[in-house]
Amino acid sequence: MSTKHPCLMCGACCAYYRVQLEQNEVDNQNHSIASHLLVEFPQEGQFSLKGTTKKDPRCAALEGKIGESVSCAIYDQRPNCCRAFLASFEDGNRNYRCDAARKAKNLPPLTPEIWIFLKKMMQMKNEVKSIAI
Ligand code: SF4
Ligand code: SF4
Repeated sequence: MSTKHPCLMCGACCAYYRVQLEQNEVDNQNHSIASHLLVEFPQEGQFSLKGTTKKDPRCAALEGKIGESVSCAIYDQRPNCCRAFLASFEDGNRNYRCDAARKAKNLPPLTPEIWIFLKKMMQMKNEVKSIAI
């Protein structure tokens, strides 16, 4: 089992849902997301991330291969809805929208056991670090 965060080997939600910015993210056109990554959708004055309004969506900021290795080119500036979207069981709760996106990309749903494993690995890593100091 990999010790990488599952989202870094997934990216399914970034190629499944439309990503709409909140009004306060676009007000005054002062948003920090580069304008070439935005499209006005569904109405004039409302913005979505480019690529996510298509029938077969894929966010223009998504880099890499879905289900293998991905990253977000605007991770620090990503919209609020991306920040709020947690992987299933990351906070202990199932996220059915994560499961649905993964299913659409032929990926199995995440389980609580994955997060228990990752937490244990992180603890072990920290213990090794503190012994080495
Ligand atoms: S679908 Fe779930 S696991 Fe995949 S990138 Fe999105 S939140 Fe992460
Ligand atoms: S901005 Fe980043 S996190 Fe949000 S959908 Fe696009 S690639 Fe995914």
